[in-house]
Amino acid sequence: QTSPVKYSRVMLKISGEALMGDQGFGLHPPTVERIAREVKAVHDLGVEICMVIGGGNIFRGLSGSAQGMERTTADYMGMLATVMNALAMQSALEGLGVFTRVISAIRMDEVAEPYIRRRAVRHLEKKRVCIFAAGTGNPYFTTDTAGALRANEMACEAIFKGTKVDGVYDKDPHKFADAKRYDTVSYDEALAKRLGVMDAAAIALARDNNLPIIVFSLDEPGGFRGILAGEGTYTKVH
Ligand code: UDP
Repeated sequence: QTSPVKYSRVMLKISGEALMGDQGFGLHPPTVERIAREVKAVHDLGVEICMVIGGGNIFRGLSGSAQGMERTTADYMGMLATVMNALAMQSALEGLGVFTRVISAIRMDEVAEPYIRRRAVRHLEKKRVCIFAAGTGNPYFTTDTAGALRANEMACEAIFKGTKVDGVYDKDPHKFADAKRYDTVSYDEALAKRLGVMDAAAIALARDNNLPIIVFSLDEPGGFRGILAGEGTYTKVH
């Protein structure tokens, strides 16, 4: 029997807030484990998986700078926050028997591997989940952009952006009952209408390299596996 999944290598981008559960801050271990199970279900199909996790559950550069902190310093703090999230995800995945590597864009050799593209590709070929930490390593960027960058570098077939809603809407579906979900939307329309798929730099990077972005809900159990098999509702930006 052949796998229902047509992807062989994918990027999963989640925000740091996806790991905080209902706490409003930080890491909620049962939530981290739940997402790790979603990843394992896809890994079990033989799909090679890259992950980028944000840091907004711990620290965001913009909020720091709004409180008077120097912007680049605040951004480095945000990048360090993503490393904590990556380590938490690594621990949860390895607890489920999935081999992983945390690969940091900022060198911290005792904690994570440095980013060396060919080495990361080799890890993927050996079916290790690669968790890319510290964003792009540069201030003024976001982890969405890091997701698009690493997805291109690793030749992923698509970026899967796991969110709280099952796709891209014309307005916030949590606030407006008549919000309409797009099945598909072009990169340019997403940019022009500021549809909140990902930030503009990330969408442009995906567009210029024909990398589809698939926005889906991480709250549905088995959702990630289902979306890879083309089931359920989602929005494809392409
Ligand atoms: N960040 C950065 N450069 C990057 C990625 C992230 O400076 O390449 C910083 C930035 O301050 C950002 C924080 O790290 O606010 C956390 O990342 P992000 O806001 O993307 O996390 P998410 O919203 O996905 O949880």
